[in-house]
Amino acid sequence: MPRRIVVVGCGVSGTTAAFHARKTDRTAEIIMVGDEKVTEYSRCGLPYAFSGTVRNLEALMGYDRAFYENTNRIKLRLGTRAVKIDTTSQKLQLADNGLSGQVNDLDYDSLILTTGARPGMLSVPGSELGGVFTIRTMNDIEALSNHLSSVQAKRVAIIGAGLTGSEMAEALIERGIHPIEAEIVPEILPVILDSDMASLVRERAEEHGVEYHLQSSLDKIIGKDGRAVGVQIGGAEHNVDAVVVAVRVKPSTELAEKAGIQLGESGGIRTDDRMETSARNVYAAGDCVETYDRITRRFVFFQLATTAVRQAMIAGINAAGGSGKYPGSTGVTTVKLFGLEIASVGPTTPLAEKLGLHPVSVRTSGSTRLEYYPGGKELTVKLLAHPQDGRLIGAQLIGEEGATLRANFVSMATHLGMTAEEFSGIETCYSPPLAPVWDPVTIAAQALARKLQLTANLARARS
Ligand SMILES: Cc1cc2nc3c(=O)[nH]c(=O)nc-3n(C[C@H](O)[C@H](O)[C@H](O)COP(=O)(O)OP(=O)(O)OC[C@H]3O[C@@H](n4cnc5c(N)ncnc54)[C@H](O)[C@@H]3O)c2cc1C
Repeated sequence: MPRRIVVVGCGVSGTTAAFHARKTDRTAEIIMVGDEKVTEYSRCGLPYAFSGTVRNLEALMGYDRAFYENTNRIKLRLGTRAVKIDTTSQKLQLADNGLSGQVNDLDYDSLILTTGARPGMLSVPGSELGGVFTIRTMNDIEALSNHLSSVQAKRVAIIGAGLTGSEMAEALIERGIHPIEAEIVPEILPVILDSDMASLVRERAEEHGVEYHLQSSLDKIIGKDGRAVGVQIGGAEHNVDAVVVAVRVKPSTELAEKAGIQLGESGGIRTDDRMETSARNVYAAGDCVETYDRITRRFVFFQLATTAVRQAMIAGINAAGGSGKYPGSTGVTTVKLFGLEIASVGPTTPLAEKLGLHPVSVRTSGSTRLEYYPGGKELTVKLLAHPQDGRLIGAQLIGEEGATLRANFVSMATHLGMTAEEFSGIETCYSPPLAPVWDPVTIAAQALARKLQLTANLARARS
């Protein structure tokens, strides 16, 4: 009998897991169960389809049905919800999303949970009104677009100035709509940037017309005839035509939890490095799991496609009888806002402080090309290192070009546990039209290595 592998969730994790299971076991029966009507599409592309940069939502679709069913022999059960797992008898209970209410059982040899995450909502008065949206699915974008057109929207409130909120602010401006952003902490992008770095991005966004209300929370949404017409932020009222709630998403773990599968302290499903859960032959990957952070050496809830696909690949391989290990993540992240590339690896300074790491840091600026060669752009680099062992633990890079690939370079260094000094010794390539002799991240690492040395000397002199 061929092995039966069932994947719950048809997002990027589910499809990645299924494809890798197929590559590992050519004869297995693979079934994907998803409660959306479609398979994997790029959620990351939603703000760009909304702004019109990407021509339409359909362009975000990964593969068509034939690619799953004919090319890869993966059966699709779309519009179907997995409602219960019996981990002892290895049975999954499915419910039709349609009106039939039909429930049926599916036996599995291996089960892969990729149930993703759902948007966080705020429990303020008015959050149930029409014209209040979250951004997670194609339907969300479609509904928001239709609403904005029907009310001829001019102003929209965004709650949360993290990655999604910031991307949506830019997308609204591209559609000629004025965004008002409320953020509860003192600076934007608090998960990936220190405030001195984030202010560079905020100033650029303000020049483009984003109106920020920092250190301000949403008190209530004001309604008229069942529809949002205003918000009260930090005590002040503002007229708006819609509200976009872009606060942290929550892992969808109910199915696992009900089956007695262990969750971790961050609230995501806990797995081992084979992506196997506490239940035998049940694997999990993506936004529903908590991830081992290689830098801070704890389990966290990263909500990144890059993390999701790597975990899903390992889950798919192991579920199909192969052998793979997920090494953990550095949380490397990038985003483009108002012409700036913003990339980050590892914890911010406030988070590192909270974790008791007390990092030594430097902030430097350099050009992405030699001074004499036209077209170079300034890149601001902040690097963080562990005060005792000198290990690189973080980087934040902002500039009009070159931040992303350099963040990948630092990600590799942190993945390998390199010190600032070791990193500063790595040779980088040079050619006048492409890169300077001393790369901006090398210059920052040299400065950091010197500062670490000085700090160590000072500590020695004091003791
Ligand atoms: C607007 C936006 C922009 C983003 N930009 C980036 C970016 O630039 N870079 C980056 O790295 N990441 C980005 N992300 C994050 C990235 O999209 C997610 O990390 C990734 O989509 C997670 O994929 P997943 O398959 O684990 O979960 P999901 O995409 O959430 O898929 C889970 C699927 O499982 C289904 N499901 C849940 N429960 C059940 C059940 N019981 N039965 C059947 N089906 C079920 C859900 O309906 C869903 O379709 C962005 C996310 C958003 C929303």
